[in-house]
Amino acid sequence: MSPTRFDPIARAFQPEAVGSTLRVRGWLQKGRSSGGILFLLVRDRTGSVQVTGKKDALGESVIEAVSHVQVEGALEVEGTVALDPRAPGGRELRARAIRIVDAGAPFPIFTEQTEEFLLDKRHLAIRSVDHVATFRVKAQLLAALREFLAQEEVLEMTPPVLTGNSAEGGSEAFEFDYFGRPGYLSQTAQLYLEALLAPHERVYALTPSFRAEKSRTPRHLTEYLHLEVELAWCDLDELLGFIERMFAFACRAVADRCPPELAQLGRSADELRAIRPPFARLTYSAAVERLASQGFPVSWGKDLGSAEERALTLESPQPLFLTHFPREVKAFYMLQSADDPRTVEAADLLGPEGFGEIVGASCRETNIEHLLERLRQMNVDPASYEWYFDLRRHGNVPHAGFGLGVERLLRWMLRRDHIRDTTPFPRTPSRHTP
Ligand code: ATP
Ligand code: MG
Repeated sequence: MSPTRFDPIARAFQPEAVGSTLRVRGWLQKGRSSGGILFLLVRDRTGSVQVTGKKDALGESVIEAVSHVQVEGALEVEGTVALDPRAPGGRELRARAIRIVDAGAPFPIFTEQTEEFLLDKRHLAIRSVDHVATFRVKAQLLAALREFLAQEEVLEMTPPVLTGNSAEGGSEAFEFDYFGRPGYLSQTAQLYLEALLAPHERVYALTPSFRAEKSRTPRHLTEYLHLEVELAWCDLDELLGFIERMFAFACRAVADRCPPELAQLGRSADELRAIRPPFARLTYSAAVERLASQGFPVSWGKDLGSAEERALTLESPQPLFLTHFPREVKAFYMLQSADDPRTVEAADLLGPEGFGEIVGASCRETNIEHLLERLRQMNVDPASYEWYFDLRRHGNVPHAGFGLGVERLLRWMLRRDHIRDTTPFPRTPSRHTP
C-alpha cells in the first residue's frame, strides 16, 4: 500500500461513500475475530469506523497477524465502504488490505480502574472518548476566546512566567532558585499587562498561572491556564459588559461548534445557548445581608467561602456578578470606591447553579499612596514593586481588567466533576507527573 494518500475516517459516513474505496489509518479501539472474520474498530482524529476482514480478501496470515494487534495498536486499512445496520453508524469498511504499523503491547487501561491508577497512566488515559471530547472542546473554546478578543481589538501579549516578585502575595507563590536569587512562578500576568497598556491600550495574555494551593478542592489546580485582559480608559460597568459578552460568545461558540463532543459528555448545547447578558449584579453588602437571612454565619468584612458563593447562584441558570468587596479582603491593586472607601471597584463572576468563581475583575488603583497603604497593611515590602509604581508616574490613566480561569470555565461548561478533568496533565498538590 503506498503511504501517499489517506482518507479521514469520517469520509466513510458521507452519503455518497457507499461502494467507494477508502484508505484509512489510525488506532485500534477494539478488535475481535469471530468465525475467521476480523471485526475492528479503528479511530482517527475524525471518528471511528468498523473494519471487517475476511480470509478470502486478506489471506490467512494477515488475519492471524491482525488478530494479535493490541488495543491502541496502529493500522492502515484499504477497503470498500458498505452499509451494515449492525455496525456503529450503520457503515463498515470491508478490508482488502491491512498493514500493521505497530502491533502494540497490551494496553494497560480498561474499565473499573482506580482514579489514582488512571492518573499514573494519564499519558495513555487521555485517549479515552471523554478526554478526547473534553480537549477538543477546550481547543474550540480557546479559539473562540481569541476570536472574540480579536473582534474587540484586544492585542495578545506574551508576559513572562518566571518573575522576581510575587504579584499576589507570598503564601501561594512557588519559589525557586534563579541563579542564587529567589524567583517565583507567575500567579498572574496582570502587572505586566498594565505596563503594556500605555502603548497598546487593550491587551490580553493567555498564559499559565501557578498557585501553590495547599487545599485540595475540585476547583483548584496548582498550574492553570489564565486568560487575563487589561483595558485602558475602562470603568467597572464597561468591564462587566465586556466580560458578559465574552462569556456568552464562548458559550454560543462551543454550543455551535461542538455538538458531538457535548453529546458524548452528556451536556446540553441549548443550556449553553441560553446564557444571555446582562447578568445580574449583586453587591457584596447585599449578598452578606441575604446570606445572613438564610442563616449563614457571615459578617461584613469577611471574605465569602465556597459554601456562601454556592448559595448565591444555586437557583439561577445564569451567572451572577458579585461586586464591591471590602478592600481588606482583596488584592492591593484594586481601586478604592469613590462613594464608599471601605470597598473596591471589583467583581467576581460566579457560575450558574452554585458553581462558584470563574472570573475575578477590578478597576486598578491609580493612586500611589493607596497602593502603598495596602502593601503596608499586608506587610509587603513596597521596594519590589518600584517598577510598578513607575506606571503610576508616567501617563497614569483609569484602567481595569480581569482574569478568567480557562479550566474553571470549561469545567462549568462540561459539568465535569473535578477541575483535573479539564486539563490533560493536571498539576495538584499531590501530583506533578506524568
Ligand atoms: P479562588 O478564590 O477560587 O481561589 P482567586 O480569588 O484566588 O480564586 P483570582 O486570583 O481572582 O482567583 O484569579 C482569577 C481567576 O483564576 C479565578 O477567577 C479563577 O477562575 C482562576 N483561578 C484562580 N486560582 C485557580 C486555581 N488554583 N486553579 C484554577 N483556576 C484558578
Ligand atoms: Mg485562590
